Amino acid sequence: MKDLLLVTDLDHTLVGDRQALACLNRTLQTLRSRVHLVYATGRSLAGARQLQQEEGLLEPEGWATGVGSTLLWRGEPDPAWDRRLQRCWDRPALGALLSGWSELILQPTSEQSPYKLSYELAAPRMGAEARQFEQRLQAGLRQADLQAQVVFSSGYQLDLLPMAAGKGAVSGYLQQKLGLRADQVLCCGDSGNDRSMLGGPWWGVMVSNARPELLAWWRQVRPDTLLRSHRHHAGAILHALDTLPLL
Ligand SMILES: [Mg+2]
Repeated sequence: MKDLLLVTDLDHTLVGDRQALACLNRTLQTLRSRVHLVYATGRSLAGARQLQQEEGLLEPEGWATGVGSTLLWRGEPDPAWDRRLQRCWDRPALGALLSGWSELILQPTSEQSPYKLSYELAAPRMGAEARQFEQRLQAGLRQADLQAQVVFSSGYQLDLLPMAAGKGAVSGYLQQKLGLRADQVLCCGDSGNDRSMLGGPWWGVMVSNARPELLAWWRQVRPDTLLRSHRHHAGAILHALDTLPLL
């Protein structure tokens, strides 16, 4: 039985420092029989697979793509996961509501999926401006009686997801599916869409190159189970594997 579920974001977490990645890949290959490796990314599956080829990423056991809205487990869709997402999710109604927001630009079809509706902001918003925008959007959803999670990343990327989706939710789902304890899970990330998995009841590691929105959240919450690494990209994951009581 494997004893660690390692869920990592790709861009600017696993990927970004080729030397550290090569070192992590070697470590994970020696731990192959003990680690369930899962990639959790905002990218589509096609985009994530392209990155895998370009950067020489190991083949994972699970792909949680579209910000944890699509799960591919050992090469197959997971029907129990999909059933969770269907609850209270009305994608056409959300699209109709937001088509009236001139500051939102719909992302290309390749970035959309049945359980993810994605936009970019015409002008990036950081800090207080980003929070205000998010609040305005939440109020709009409430008024229209629509339910969705609003995931705002890197100042310009906006994803709407079913309430049951997200990187944190998919990590919890896999923990349960695999029958692991919370202290047998490690999540790794750098930006706003990683917040849900880094704030879970399991171990987390935040890279030193974390985005301002993630740092702002960390300063407020400071979870005991989250390591704020002084190392960047894949080096931070190695740091967590070396220092946390995981294996
Ligand atoms: Mg990232």
